[in-house]
Amino acid sequence: MRMAIVGGGIGGLAAALFLRQAGIDATVYEQAPALREVGAGLVVPPNVVRPLERLGLAKRLPEFAVRLEAAWEFRRWQDGRVLSVQPMGDECERLYGAPCYVAHRADLLALLQGALPAAQLRLDHRCHAVEQRDGHYRDGEVQLAFVRRDGGSEWVSTDAAVGADGIHSAVAPAVFAAAAEADPAAAVPTTPRFSGLCAFRFLVPAAEAPAMALRPVQTLWLGPGRHLVHYPISSGRLVNVVAIVPAGHWRTESWTAEGRAEDIAAEFRGWHDDVQRLIAAARDVRRWAMYDRDPLPRWTSGRVTLLGDAAHAMLPFFAQGAAQAIEDAEVLAQCVRGADVASMPAALARYEALRRPRASEVQLMSRGREYRNHLPDGPEQERRDAELARGEPLRQSAWLYGHDLPQP
Ligand SMILES: Cc1cc2nc3c(=O)[nH]c(=O)nc-3n(C[C@H](O)[C@H](O)[C@H](O)COP(=O)(O)OP(=O)(O)OC[C@H]3O[C@@H](n4cnc5c(N)ncnc54)[C@H](O)[C@@H]3O)c2cc1C
Repeated sequence: MRMAIVGGGIGGLAAALFLRQAGIDATVYEQAPALREVGAGLVVPPNVVRPLERLGLAKRLPEFAVRLEAAWEFRRWQDGRVLSVQPMGDECERLYGAPCYVAHRADLLALLQGALPAAQLRLDHRCHAVEQRDGHYRDGEVQLAFVRRDGGSEWVSTDAAVGADGIHSAVAPAVFAAAAEADPAAAVPTTPRFSGLCAFRFLVPAAEAPAMALRPVQTLWLGPGRHLVHYPISSGRLVNVVAIVPAGHWRTESWTAEGRAEDIAAEFRGWHDDVQRLIAAARDVRRWAMYDRDPLPRWTSGRVTLLGDAAHAMLPFFAQGAAQAIEDAEVLAQCVRGADVASMPAALARYEALRRPRASEVQLMSRGREYRNHLPDGPEQERRDAELARGEPLRQSAWLYGHDLPQP
């Protein structure tokens, strides 16, 4: 069985690795001429570490990632008072069977890429059309059209295709068009939803960061209308900072759009000194308007399915976007193991049935955090803080982190 994966992000690469482990001839087609992730960190929670263990890659995480001793350390914006904290470290392994790391995205991507044979990754291939018409080509074949930067184009035939090409997926419309053809009443997905927020993302060299930001702790400062998250990455050499603020006029949704440190400073004027120190030392500032999607009514049509942000673009408030993509990847491989061309649609439908409910719920939960994290000071904020103190994050983490591979 051949499967083409459109998109060489964390989700697409993880899918290729799991599919190959399941005996599928999987090839990734990525639009960019080289794989790269911009300077930013991500949480690698236990529900990612376990799949990485099954790929034989988790043992490499300590080479670059930082193992968290605590997470969800919520602090108050003005005085830094700790509102709640969740012990991780040994406690995490005891509760969820794996540690929790924080890492530079580029390092995680390189780890996945390094495990994939070079010939299975085709760079500079931008997908612009997907067709599947039984009997039109060889029965069961999916046809993908790609263009290259030099203007060249190519059609690729495959037995099944996976759209792992992010929130603006080029594959998703093919899924919905085919569904609408079969059933005109099939709901059509909405365009991405603008959250009204943007994220400033930057790195701070360890030598210039306040000592509290070097602890192996994922820290979240909550204040009216905005919040700021930080944790150390790259074996502790850098602190990764994400500041979520009202977007104002900003609509650019690009990992590479530059931001200005003075704009962040203006947003966080009056906040605690440690926050000010981080902002004053900001390097490589990026600004990114935040979009998500409503849960999609379906991910699959025939021999084409979606995975990762293409299937469930979410706000980053539970740090689960890449994690859900990796969960998708493993379940997909488990479902298609042993499938042939004829049984592939049923295998992909099973994958969707197993994954869509959980990923949709994480999408909606993440949206809920948007409001709670930004409450103005007052009675509602005091109620939220009291709930945090009673351990609400712990309960949510158990559902997210404790999850493991369902049996199809
Ligand atoms: C501020 C912020 C913080 C985050 N923190 C975390 C975190 O701590 N933990 C976590 O798990 N997640 C986190 N996320 C979410 C995570 O980054 C995404 O959910 C994850 O990157 C999605 O991976 P993906 O592979 O599905 O999509 P993407 O990373 O978007 O990759 C899609 C790939 O497809 C390629 N592509 C697009 N269109 C085409 C085409 N037509 N043809 C060929 N290739 C194409 C793109 O170039 C790209 O390489 C965060 C997100 C943000 C914004």
